[in-house]
Amino acid sequence: MSATESHSPITSLICAEDARRESFVLDEKPADFLAAPSSEEECLQIIQQAHSNGIALVPWGGGTDIQQGNLLEARRWAALHTGQMNRLLEYSPPDMVVTVQSGMPLAELQKTLREQNQFLPFDPPCEDRTTLGGIVAANRQGLLRPGFGTPRDRLLGLRVAIGNKTMVKGGGKVVKNVAGYDLCKLFTGSFGTLGLITEVTFKTNPLPERQAHLLFSAPDTQRAATAALAVHTARFQPASLSIACHEGTYLYVGLIGSREATEWQEKAITDLLMEHGLQRSEAGWTDSDIRRYIVNHPSPVQVRMTVRPTETPDALKLLISLGASALCHVPTGILEAALPQETATAHPRDINGPIWRLQRSIPQGGHLVWTRLPPVLKAEIDVWGAPRADFALMRGIKRTLDPHRLFSPGRFIGRL
Ligand SMILES: Cc1cc2nc3c(=O)[nH]c(=O)nc-3n(C[C@H](O)[C@H](O)[C@H](O)COP(=O)(O)OP(=O)(O)OC[C@H]3O[C@@H](n4cnc5c(N)ncnc54)[C@H](O)[C@@H]3O)c2cc1C
Repeated sequence: MSATESHSPITSLICAEDARRESFVLDEKPADFLAAPSSEEECLQIIQQAHSNGIALVPWGGGTDIQQGNLLEARRWAALHTGQMNRLLEYSPPDMVVTVQSGMPLAELQKTLREQNQFLPFDPPCEDRTTLGGIVAANRQGLLRPGFGTPRDRLLGLRVAIGNKTMVKGGGKVVKNVAGYDLCKLFTGSFGTLGLITEVTFKTNPLPERQAHLLFSAPDTQRAATAALAVHTARFQPASLSIACHEGTYLYVGLIGSREATEWQEKAITDLLMEHGLQRSEAGWTDSDIRRYIVNHPSPVQVRMTVRPTETPDALKLLISLGASALCHVPTGILEAALPQETATAHPRDINGPIWRLQRSIPQGGHLVWTRLPPVLKAEIDVWGAPRADFALMRGIKRTLDPHRLFSPGRFIGRL
């Protein structure tokens, strides 16, 4: 009898006998239990029962970014799935403020917002699966960051069920709402390690008059990067500007705004890029294609690097030399890449292997996160990189908000 089979159901809320738990797999281990609350009261009961039974809880939205993190501490764990917490709670189109439960998929909310000529400027690769709670918990920097900022910039308020079995509330449901310590910022990017976000409030944006997606093919990575930097340093304001390297090199420019402004920029940017030897293209890998490709890529070795925009040509060159498929957001210097599958068999301590070559290549001030790694490599490497000098503060916050280490123990920076 296996370890999981020997467990009877703990309660009706934390269930071992739900066959669906088999599909919640973290670092090659299926969840021992599934907990799918439909209210905040149930969340608090689940936390109480997890504490009494020594079970770790891993908040789980759409699962599109769930593999990012260190190994979960070795104990029985439950996937804390937000799929049943998916309701629209409040929407005031004139105020441009919307509140939803955290498990609502982004695509569903966008549909409601579009009916009022509004939208949220988040652009994850799988918007039908990605949940709003997951977007806040991961605070991934999207393609649209140059034009619209990050999820953190759009978040007005949230509610979170934390490990001492209480609800905490940050911000509110109006645009000017922060007095004292801004709890929204604390939970944004906390990757399920401080509690379960149950409710989120965002400010929305008006739908733009026009969106244009321009695709250019480039003869090589160096020329694509130089051309992109020329656009970045000129007076244009593209909503996104990225280079996709996979079966060729493509430069992608996203324009969002009034018809007049976007048409003027489309012409001027096209002229500038053609002067750099790029060609307008109708077919090829767009950044959306490559992000979907990376998300669904079978390679268990994936990485996100952050460098200065001027350092992106070198970073791209290195990734390509390692056989990676890569996407580079030029204005933010963020690169996402899937490395070839054979990288997974590299020894983590081989200083000439791909893992160390990448670690060593990060220029001062840059950063590298392994967004996916096989468990055997995670045992050796902190996927988030070395903790910084202020790590003691993070440890103090974790101790205060999650005193029994119930939420994703071991998964965050420094194996918190
Ligand atoms: C290659 C790649 C590119 C991406 N590019 C973009 C992009 O350009 N723009 C963009 O917006 N996003 C991007 N994303 C991010 C991602 O798709 C989503 O934004 C989001 O992070 C995942 O949402 P989810 O519901 O699938 O969360 P999950 O994958 O289920 O969870 C992600 C993390 O959040 C935690 N979590 C989930 N729900 C909650 C909750 N309710 N409370 C507390 N913690 C929770 C989980 O424990 C986990 O640590 C990218 C992801 C990948 C892998």
